[in-house]
Amino acid sequence: MKVLCILYSGGNAAKEEPRLLGTIENELGLREYLEAQGHEFLVSDDKEGADSFFQKHIVDAEVLITTPFHPGYLTADLFKKAKNLKICITAGVGSDHIDLNAAIEHGVEVLEVSGSNVVSVAEHVVMNILLLVRNFVPAHEMIERGDWQVSEVARNAFDVEGKVIGTIGAGRIGYRVLQRLVPFNPKELIYYDYAALPEEAAKAVNARRVEDLKEFVSQCDIITVNAPLHEGTRNLINAELLSHFKKGAWLVNTARGAICDKDAVAAALKSGQLRGYAGDVWDQQPAPRDHVWRTMKNPLGGGNGMVPHYSGTTLDAQARYAKGTFDILDNYLKGKEQEPQNVIIGKGSYATKAYGQR
Ligand code: NAD
Repeated sequence: MKVLCILYSGGNAAKEEPRLLGTIENELGLREYLEAQGHEFLVSDDKEGADSFFQKHIVDAEVLITTPFHPGYLTADLFKKAKNLKICITAGVGSDHIDLNAAIEHGVEVLEVSGSNVVSVAEHVVMNILLLVRNFVPAHEMIERGDWQVSEVARNAFDVEGKVIGTIGAGRIGYRVLQRLVPFNPKELIYYDYAALPEEAAKAVNARRVEDLKEFVSQCDIITVNAPLHEGTRNLINAELLSHFKKGAWLVNTARGAICDKDAVAAALKSGQLRGYAGDVWDQQPAPRDHVWRTMKNPLGGGNGMVPHYSGTTLDAQARYAKGTFDILDNYLKGKEQEPQNVIIGKGSYATKAYGQR
């Protein structure tokens, strides 16, 4: 059996730090296990274009392992060439880099390691909210420059306490964000999700559901995006929706870059409609050097908390998603039932309700 695996290159860091499991150097710790059973295990970070390692080997691979951090994009066209493919495993959470409708059409199952990095991301979201609202990045940059002008950074610094904070998507990550925000004593926690939280869960964090998206965004001082990328969320946060945001709101997106219109976000930050934007996900990964999100600023020269895609790939998270990938693979090889929460596309249909309303 041929197992194709697309991961990011870890370079020296991965040689020095073996817990960087999600790299081409450390191969999710799967080589010995697969080769001992006589399987062929091919690992690479080369994923773009017709001549790439990915496109060359997808034609006869039975198992594809990918990671959202360095997505191997499995398009409908590639599915047509992948004649032998039976199962796609996402080492992490978020399988939007796979054309899920094409997977159904071709009878390919798609699984991810649900829950493996949700705490890692929720912590990053809380950090992003704090660093934007408190204007942390410009304050630190000032210190590195050798300057000391308190009023220059204090003029755009606020408290999280007393703000209305809302999440688009209140699943595993969105709910954990709400839980972690309760002690900050916000004015109110609200959420927008077509799936209502169970009553007890909503009560535990005192969260109110708002069913209309424009109404929802117009009530928030701070918005965090925690929904998967699918037909219903691609470009959801565009110029029109941004015009309904409260002037000077903060937006945090660690879900997927393409949920936001890149240029509309940059323009909203520049005009001051948004006071800040932070996250780790980009419409294209790796993001091009000249991507507008790298350097965009608000009118006071701050408000940018962008980093590379790493919130869900802490060393703790890597241990969990490497173990979860192994379990899914092992179940597949032994013909055992998969854990239901990991199945995104089962035999011929969506097994989850999280990738859009159907
Ligand atoms: P989840 O399935 O537990 O929750 C997703 C929630 O989003 C569900 O409640 C679903 O109903 C809701 N949703 C779907 N479409 C929606 C829409 N149009 N409007 C409002 N809500 C909608 O998933 P999760 O574990 O919370 O992860 C969410 C997403 O976060 C993943 O799909 C992935 O894209 C992203 N993620 C990013 C990182 C990272 O490192 N940055 C890591 C893990 C996950």
